[in-house]
Amino acid sequence: MQGIAIPDLPIEKGVNLRTLNAFGLPAVAHTLVRVRSDAELRRLVDHPDLGRAPKFVLGGGSNVVFTRDPQAVIVKVEVTGRRLVEQRDDAWIVEVGAGEPWHDTVAWTLEQGWPGLENLALIPGSVGAAPVQNIGAYGVELKDRFESLDVVDLVTGRSATLGPDACRFGYRDSVFKRALAGKSVITRVRMRLPRPWEPVLGYLELERKVQETGNAAPDAATVFDWICAIRRAKLPDPAVIGNVGSFFKNPVVSAEQCRDIIDRDPEIVHYPMPDGSVKLAAGWLIDACGWKGKTIGRAGVYEKQALVLVNRGGASGAEVVTLARAIQESVYGRFGIRLEPEPVVV
Ligand SMILES: Cc1cc2nc3c(=O)[nH]c(=O)nc-3n(C[C@H](O)[C@H](O)[C@H](O)COP(=O)(O)OP(=O)(O)OC[C@H]3O[C@@H](n4cnc5c(N)ncnc54)[C@H](O)[C@@H]3O)c2cc1C
Repeated sequence: MQGIAIPDLPIEKGVNLRTLNAFGLPAVAHTLVRVRSDAELRRLVDHPDLGRAPKFVLGGGSNVVFTRDPQAVIVKVEVTGRRLVEQRDDAWIVEVGAGEPWHDTVAWTLEQGWPGLENLALIPGSVGAAPVQNIGAYGVELKDRFESLDVVDLVTGRSATLGPDACRFGYRDSVFKRALAGKSVITRVRMRLPRPWEPVLGYLELERKVQETGNAAPDAATVFDWICAIRRAKLPDPAVIGNVGSFFKNPVVSAEQCRDIIDRDPEIVHYPMPDGSVKLAAGWLIDACGWKGKTIGRAGVYEKQALVLVNRGGASGAEVVTLARAIQESVYGRFGIRLEPEPVVV
């Protein structure tokens, strides 16, 4: 790796990305730039060689599958800082730099006495990536706690602030996965933590915790601990086994389609949605096709949760994609449902 001396804009060449993605997949960035502020991003946009080159924005690499060496310049977002920006009667508004780790930020808000993010504890990655797929877990999505965010346009270098409507949040989706993909860098996120706080417990595994402990009115720290325990029991730690969490989105089907499937497979795990559609548990569909614990090449399906694909050691991105396609084909063959990958495939 060789550094080029441009003040305050560290440009690295030939960077090994294996430790910068949670799957531990092999890939090399021809150029990687670490940006710590909007000003540095503007300098990158104005850079004579790199300004016009295609860019790929990288946070913690926990939702990316590298299938080859990226052609784009990797922009590694390292904007830091956390602060309370406003105290309203109905909410605390906190602002966090995009490069801050998400889980540490959740823990920090609780330490400050501003609960609301505890159901999203232990999700790996950076704060800046949280709006990109509108991260969600255990009954809470980022959009439920979102106030606004700052972006820098990668073509013009202009900064802008976007509210919830402009972000077009959906289920594991936002404008940053669509029209603005690769075009804007999120530099800061502001979250709205509701006052008064109430626990969100309407999720099967949390209801079980309430029953097990007999604690029907847990405080936020208790919910945080419960979430961490539930997640540690069923998800592999990327530091030990390479993975990107859920590999597929839970498919949403019409009530009629769901009834057809229930007629054939009465056990199917499904959740009715407010609009009348039904969300199916992708992990159940994959498990029903016999994939749990299976391996293709050096990529496999996690033994405790069929929705998680894992690196069994030395896997390439191509092996992961081959396994993912085989799973998609068998789920389509049996249920007529197309599973959509959740991570970004590069
Ligand atoms: C064990 C495990 C469990 C997980 N559990 C969950 C879960 O419960 N719920 C959930 O929703 N997700 C989950 N994930 C997925 C992942 O943690 C989240 O998607 C996370 O937000 C990704 O953050 P990151 O910084 O690693 O993003 P990266 O993987 O680096 O990037 C993901 C995408 O966001 C874009 N991006 C990143 N930073 C920025 C930025 N600052 N500006 C613009 N675009 C950006 C990238 O270009 C890429 O398209 C899990 C992953 C793992 C490994």
